[in-house]
Amino acid sequence: MSSLVLREEVASAARRLAHEGLLVGTSGNVSCRSADVVAVTASGVTLAGCRPEDVTVVSLTGEVVEGELRPTSELSLHLGLYADTDTATAVVHTHAPWSTAIACVLEELPVLHYQQLLLGGTVRVAPYATFGTPELAILVREALTGRQAALMANHGSVSIGATLEAAVENALLLEWLAALHHRASALGTPRVLTAAEQEDVVLAALSRGYGTVHPHKETDE
Ligand SMILES: [Zn+2]
Repeated sequence: MSSLVLREEVASAARRLAHEGLLVGTSGNVSCRSADVVAVTASGVTLAGCRPEDVTVVSLTGEVVEGELRPTSELSLHLGLYADTDTATAVVHTHAPWSTAIACVLEELPVLHYQQLLLGGTVRVAPYATFGTPELAILVREALTGRQAALMANHGSVSIGATLEAAVENALLLEWLAALHHRASALGTPRVLTAAEQEDVVLAALSRGYGTVHPHKETDE
């Protein structure tokens, strides 16, 4: 993929997440890896109006390859996640309202709804550390082990995906699940799906070939 296309795709994803209310002002960041480079939103950019020139291309070790603007202060988090896995090609970090609220209170987001299994199960909340620090990057990488998303205590959310679209969808799904938890908790004590119930969902999804289909596109439930 040409770096110009990559920069536009990252800019487009940032605009969409801002439109959906997950990226507010200059907070949050988006990146996508292609071969040995990463296109990442620059520091201080208003993401609702993100343009290709607001996206900087860096090497896997963080040297700027293309672009005029300084990459996001969370660059080490993005690069660390790419170093951890061969399957993640995109990373989305948000200060989304419901996700951030949950991350200010809970130690983990339990599985109330089977769609959460697309994220790998219970969503862990990484302990708090100052933004942009290597400590925070390490804590988030640990929280993401075996998961497609994690929360960051008193900070926000991180999602990854095999494609940029998948990482965006995972961020949107986590925000929906965080809002669901809040609404359910306002009504009473939410029921958490048991391990056996979760296992049955995975088996049912596999037998129906849902493994790669996003649940928002399912029509028969
Ligand atoms: Zn942040």
